Amino acid sequence: MSDKFSYQTMTCKSALNKINSFLPYHYDLNIYRGCEHHCVYCFAKYSHRYLEDNNFFDHIYIKENIVEELEKKLSSKNWKRDVINLGGITDSYQPIEKDRKLMPKILKLLIKYKTPAIISTKSSLILRDIELLKKLSEVAGVQIACTITTLDQNLATILEPNASSIKMRIKTIQTLKSSGLTVGWHLMPMIPYITATRNNLKNIFEMASKCQIDYIITGLLNLRGTTRTDFFRFIKTTFPEKYQPLWDLYHQKDKMKEYKRQLFQLLNILEKEYHVSRNYQKYVPKRVEQKQLELF
Ligand code: SF4
Repeated sequence: MSDKFSYQTMTCKSALNKINSFLPYHYDLNIYRGCEHHCVYCFAKYSHRYLEDNNFFDHIYIKENIVEELEKKLSSKNWKRDVINLGGITDSYQPIEKDRKLMPKILKLLIKYKTPAIISTKSSLILRDIELLKKLSEVAGVQIACTITTLDQNLATILEPNASSIKMRIKTIQTLKSSGLTVGWHLMPMIPYITATRNNLKNIFEMASKCQIDYIITGLLNLRGTTRTDFFRFIKTTFPEKYQPLWDLYHQKDKMKEYKRQLFQLLNILEKEYHVSRNYQKYVPKRVEQKQLELF
């Protein structure tokens, strides 16, 4: 644990949040509130508002009763073993998890109750739980994704200062893949003029292909609320030459429309050139039905 951060425990009323979305899952589970990875583009900072705390990156809240609450939910006869998205708001494998070890307990419950999961992370700590992930994959299904937005370590250190190094994230993907797990690559967010460059995207598709990744998901930087203000402040001081072009892009609809058209054209070319699928939906695990359960 680092001295830079403050850690507090809290209790949750329920382990799962029901989400009504177009996504192929409807339950979210987040062990932690706040995230030590400190990505400059973080979309989740708004979530600290509900705690009346404005330090999302340094004030980490640990849901101390989450394992008990999850078991209550999964053991209920009403639970239909729907897919759970682990860490939709904050990274379940951020540094504090090394000490707290909540993920192994969560994975053991998912295995016990044959409940499939989706996990995305920027941390190699996930490898600690590889045996549990393999077991979950066998009994219910698990889809894992590692987020890598650039292969340039210097740039990654600026953008995602406390995440695992790029080398470690690639190694994580390779290890998970060679263990027979379904592994995707989150190329999100792509930042115009910084990481959404032809060179960077080409390098990433090439590496994803070498890693024999199952799929890649791409997404352009989305700026809302405090993220927008903080991001432009960061650009002004760190990449001053990119400030005006970015500002114009995010304030002129026509410009953005044309930018997106060209970017997605390039992504379509790269997808074909490197044979890396951008269709992640077919890898989302399905609910284990009662009939299948009887086979175990
Ligand atoms: S890993 Fe995700 S939640 Fe954590 S700081 Fe980065 S973007 Fe935010």
